[in-house]
Amino acid sequence: MVDFEKILGTIQEEMSYRDVSGKVASYIPELAKVDPKKFGMHIYCSDKNNYGFGDHEENFSIQSISKVFTLSLAIKHIGSKVWERVNVEPSGNPFNSLMQLEQDKGVPRNPFINSGALVICDILVNILDNPKKELLDFVRKITDNNSIDFNEKVATSELKSGYRNIALVNYMKALGNIKSDVDEIIDFYFYSCSLEMSCRNLAKAFIMYANKGVIPNSGEQILNPSTVKRINALMQTCGFYDESGEFSFEVGLPGKSGVGGGIAAIHPQQYAVAVWSPVLNEKGNSELGMKALERLTTLTGLSVF
Ligand code: GLN
Repeated sequence: MVDFEKILGTIQEEMSYRDVSGKVASYIPELAKVDPKKFGMHIYCSDKNNYGFGDHEENFSIQSISKVFTLSLAIKHIGSKVWERVNVEPSGNPFNSLMQLEQDKGVPRNPFINSGALVICDILVNILDNPKKELLDFVRKITDNNSIDFNEKVATSELKSGYRNIALVNYMKALGNIKSDVDEIIDFYFYSCSLEMSCRNLAKAFIMYANKGVIPNSGEQILNPSTVKRINALMQTCGFYDESGEFSFEVGLPGKSGVGGGIAAIHPQQYAVAVWSPVLNEKGNSELGMKALERLTTLTGLSVF
């Protein structure tokens, strides 16, 4: 039996000695205000036992981690048709690359870079009357927590400075890979990124990806096992942009990061884990978060490899 409580205690202590050299995301003005010293971690196990430390109950901006939820919702609605508009290959480039999109003729490399997530938002805006409500309902259901919400201030702050994302959608629209109104897609995308969750809620939300699509409280099957298999494969290969190889190498779990400093990851059949530390490395991934997860899979001996 792995003693998660003891191992988390060790990680908390080890991380308190570490220096970080990166910076908090500042291109979204609201995120620049976050205290760089925040640090929390929470593990939710398949047997429903869960453990956490530090700022694990505090809400933060999940940013690109929301791309896992929007993709899940799109697959739930249109199944494998999603893959007619977005590929499933690692990008090896920054998450907001325009150059790669031009090379790829407007078909994004994968759904976890910005261009890919924007196509997924287009799909949802196109088929749903109220995509924001559907996304909130989805996240509230899988966490069993109705208090989860968007942060309008963060969404508006990103809209004011979101030129690169606006360029990505417009470019894809010009090449015929965007159907809906550009402003509506951008609005939905920034709201999705502004979702706020604590490590505790995020770990609970991710446990269904460890449990073949079943949520813990009701036992309901939210996604089918084959969808979960594919989403996990994409998290493994594309969840950390041009640092996905490094994350696999160091940590060895399917996961997804966001520029709010959060990372969520899963071990099939075992646990989901969420960690938050806002200081990012140059690839836009949480510096301390990656280190903490490396220690978790090393100390527990539980990675997928
Ligand atoms: N909202 C951010 C953006 O579009 C999300 C990026 C991220 O978390 N990597 O730039």
